[in-house]
Amino acid sequence: MKALITGGCGFIGSHLAEALLDRGDAVTVVDNLSTGRFENIAHLVGRPGFSFCIENIANETVMDRLVSECDLIYHLAAAVGVELIVQEPVQVIETNIKGCEAVLRIGARYRKKVILASTSEVYGKNESVPFREDADSVLGATTRSRWSYACSKAMDEFLALAYAKQLALPVVIVRLFNTVGPRQTGRYGMVIPRFVQQALADQPITVYGDGQQTRCFTYVGDVVRAIVGLADAPGAVGQVFNIGSTQEISIMQLARRVVELTGSASSITLVPYDQAYEEGFEDMRRRVPDTSKIAQLIGWQPRVDLDGILKRVIDYFQTHQG
Ligand code: UDP
Repeated sequence: MKALITGGCGFIGSHLAEALLDRGDAVTVVDNLSTGRFENIAHLVGRPGFSFCIENIANETVMDRLVSECDLIYHLAAAVGVELIVQEPVQVIETNIKGCEAVLRIGARYRKKVILASTSEVYGKNESVPFREDADSVLGATTRSRWSYACSKAMDEFLALAYAKQLALPVVIVRLFNTVGPRQTGRYGMVIPRFVQQALADQPITVYGDGQQTRCFTYVGDVVRAIVGLADAPGAVGQVFNIGSTQEISIMQLARRVVELTGSASSITLVPYDQAYEEGFEDMRRRVPDTSKIAQLIGWQPRVDLDGILKRVIDYFQTHQG
């Protein structure tokens, strides 16, 4: 199998590239290094079957060649991180919509299977957890830029399903829930790398809002195993799948656990959302996936629990700069 990974220099993409090489697939990574980092794939350079191309996925000529040469496409290139979304909404909307449109159009030209990485953000403010894949997207007003991310990824999903329906393009949509692990940077706001770096530096842990909002954190290795399992499963074509852990924790409890596991002297401070992001910022109170669909199709369950994740991330930041 020869895989093309868009966004392959990113946190999840680089782990996916490694897992595919480990099982003997050939892998080409395309990434414009906007949020991805070359260091994430530097250790893969020189491995048999591995190649990379530092380019924008909007470059039609390059993408035409790369897509024609692969067997399937993992489309992970996207603007990520709530902070980036709030600060650079134009870049986020354009990257997510135009990039995905190009991948699907060129994928359809050569009839290549497309695995589309989407997000649990598409459930928005829906409060009836756990979310099944057919639950409603409940998004806020267009004046609140946070929702532009969910809306752009929802549009990508609509487009992918439209290609599947109208042109019989084989697509699989995966909705990822708070994926974490080594190589994830705190630069774009992600909470676990932030808290771990703050704790290791004995700086205050910045809990946003009242800290009672909850998330389910999933280890990147488990997420990659799920993505590859679905890409391999003929029964997944044309469908949407949640990928996430169901171990729910509040952000305040998370902060306390990070302090405990690092033995840090950090205090925990509450930062109002208005200060952390922007005036009128809306957060999700709870976000929990229903994962029965993927469990039924490929028997997937996460293997690494939250403490296992935190220990790996702590170990990573003790040996890397992030
Ligand atoms: N968060 C926090 N402190 C930080 C960064 C994030 O309290 O320094 C909170 C954030 O407001 C959200 C949760 O942690 O409620 C998860 O944030 P993240 O950006 O990791 O992912 P999200 O679930 O928002 O996509």
